[in-house]
Amino acid sequence: MFDLAGEVALVTGGAKGIGKGIAKALKQARAKVLIGDVDKENGKRTASELEGEFYYLDVTDRDQVQYVIQSIYEKYKKLSILCSNAGIFPQMSIENMTEKDWDKVQNINLKGTFFVAQAALKYMKKQSYGRIILTSSITGPITGFSGWAHYGASKAGQLGFMRSAALEYAKYGITINAIQPGNILTDGLIKTGEEYMRKMKEIIPVYTLGKPEDIGYTAVFLASREAGFITGQTIVVDGGQVL
Ligand code: NAD
Repeated sequence: MFDLAGEVALVTGGAKGIGKGIAKALKQARAKVLIGDVDKENGKRTASELEGEFYYLDVTDRDQVQYVIQSIYEKYKKLSILCSNAGIFPQMSIENMTEKDWDKVQNINLKGTFFVAQAALKYMKKQSYGRIILTSSITGPITGFSGWAHYGASKAGQLGFMRSAALEYAKYGITINAIQPGNILTDGLIKTGEEYMRKMKEIIPVYTLGKPEDIGYTAVFLASREAGFITGQTIVVDGGQVL
């Protein structure tokens, strides 16, 4: 069960953090894992650890996204799994937020999801099979968090995109789902500070922050052939935080 041997998976933002956790879990389930990231150093290291391949990929650059995904398809003759995970979560008040701050978060988190999904769907449709998994969040679609209004909007937006895309592509054997992580210990989270992480641990019912692999194991399930009857759905992985 949940054997991904023979599958080719691209993980955006896979150089480190949650993306790396997803990539590791996919590799454990025997998929060929390709890392697409703007961080060359960590990206190459992660790809080599997982016997995969690194592609320099900025999800906000539509031409580059299309080029990289086309190159992957031509080389491997398939792209069965796309994990659209690249994202940023800088904290700032609405009062101090510039248009540039707002756009940067939407461009990476939301528009980037559209670009990679659109490029992958073209080939997934050709092969009549595909699994797309978005890394959303609990912040935005379920809860709010002071300082993350632009981020919450982008993460809720991803789910709106997902539901319509899932309906549009269901007839081609393609499923599109999302994972909503709670607080997962990554460099991105560490940037929010010790005080934030201490407070979070206190309110998470399992009394610990999540690990990137916790998201990875969920991704393996959604990426599996066995999950073919699930589309347009989300799975919350947050240690019970939003209960
Ligand atoms: P991270 O900062 O540790 O890693 C993010 C990765 O994305 C990095 O490798 C970075 O280089 C890459 N990236 C950034 N901009 C990119 C771009 N334009 N193109 C390609 N790659 C790019 O962050 P993380 O905590 O691992 O977060 C990963 C995803 O999980 C994000 O979408 C984030 O919103 C989501 N998330 C994280 C948490 C958490 O607690 N860590 C919670 C909920 C959701």
